[in-house]
Amino acid sequence: MISRVLRYCYELSRNQWLKPGELRKLQEKRLRAIVRHAYGKAQLYHSKLNSVGLKPEDIRTIEDLKKIPFVTKQEVRDGIPGRSIAKGYGLENCVQASTSGTSGGPMPVFYDRRFLDYSVANWYFRKIVAIGLSPLDKMVSIEYGTPEPSDVNREKTMMSRGAKPKPMGRVALGPAASMLSRLRKRIRITDNAEEVLAEIVKFQPKLIDGNTSYLRVVAETIIDKGVKEVHPKAVRGDGEVLDGPTRKFLENVFECDVFDEYSAWDFGHGAWECVRREGYHIDADLLIMEIIRDGEPAAPGEQGEIVVTGLLNYAMPLIRYKVGDVGILGEDVCSCGRGLPILKSVEGRMVDCFRLSNGRIVTPKTIMTTIQDCPGVSRYQAVQEGTNKVTIELMRRKDDPEVSVEELVARCRGILGDDVKIEVFKGDRKNLKAKFRPVVSKLTVSGETRWTRARSNKPV
Ligand SMILES: [Zn+2]
Repeated sequence: MISRVLRYCYELSRNQWLKPGELRKLQEKRLRAIVRHAYGKAQLYHSKLNSVGLKPEDIRTIEDLKKIPFVTKQEVRDGIPGRSIAKGYGLENCVQASTSGTSGGPMPVFYDRRFLDYSVANWYFRKIVAIGLSPLDKMVSIEYGTPEPSDVNREKTMMSRGAKPKPMGRVALGPAASMLSRLRKRIRITDNAEEVLAEIVKFQPKLIDGNTSYLRVVAETIIDKGVKEVHPKAVRGDGEVLDGPTRKFLENVFECDVFDEYSAWDFGHGAWECVRREGYHIDADLLIMEIIRDGEPAAPGEQGEIVVTGLLNYAMPLIRYKVGDVGILGEDVCSCGRGLPILKSVEGRMVDCFRLSNGRIVTPKTIMTTIQDCPGVSRYQAVQEGTNKVTIELMRRKDDPEVSVEELVARCRGILGDDVKIEVFKGDRKNLKAKFRPVVSKLTVSGETRWTRARSNKPV
């Protein structure tokens, strides 16, 4: 409903300026409601709360949330539809997205209608205005395509409910999004970045939004081909860690500010940068984000695992959901004056962290920043092969400048220490057909991660 989306645009715009105390009140009211709903309607949370002797009325404040055990993606996925989807939510009225299958296979995600309208208001209004653009500015989104739902789960869902959920997409977003469709263009990522670039030139968007690795490919193509007709007002990366050197590179090529955001289909929202870019404003009116270190809340400035409680998706509640990413909370508020709290940094996926023999954990962002900062490096993949062995493949094109292997190894030693054997080899540039992970760990994550304090990240 357009009128509802407009109302939510107004509400979300207003919420972002609430004082921390007011925001907290709103969060706690929504928290109490979603916990009551999930306990009554979704078996997964009924059992979770019962397992520790909790009743919904025991959860009144954000501190109380800590009493609820975490829920993993595996538990949610295994519980679809019978345990994870709330009773009474006809899937024919929901839209279905799906997370990418990077950790344990794809997971179908269902949004109820009201949550979808909130999402449209956030995606197409609040977050656009926050980076200095108008919702009526043209925008290109470069995507791998909406992830396919898991066939197994989809069939399971349909068989048990006899209903076919609507796919995620422009049609499912309703008339509000259709109205804007002439201003929004989705470009599917292909092997040929020149084709993607040609579409951008033709459409002349004010905002180019896309997967960070692929934005880099587009930028390199702009340089290679000497393209002069791309003049966005802003570029925004998502889906991956944006390291400092890559941000600078994109800013130089696109000649505009580059923004980053953190979100996932699972919970629809997350955290985003405003024009001041002093950290990521957490969508605290839509979700509660915790940073957890060894089972306890991390202090601001400390790395930990991101745990999310969605406040408004009643079809598929997510309460204390372990996302599998590492983040750092900020201490300060942003100078823009928004009351939405700050996530200082998104450090990458837990499974991609390098785990050293002394127990120290080095996040993908630290590794990416270190490697990318080395002169001449463009695309690469760093792989932790074993506790004491890391290989770095430099994926080069013919005309790429030489990289000093000595310097690269020295910089990596600065963050990995002297015990790790670092091998660098040069390979050919491969096309980005699927989501690219510049940092990969082959170590299996076993048991609970123990966090130890990182040493200085300064290269030697
Ligand atoms: Zn701000």
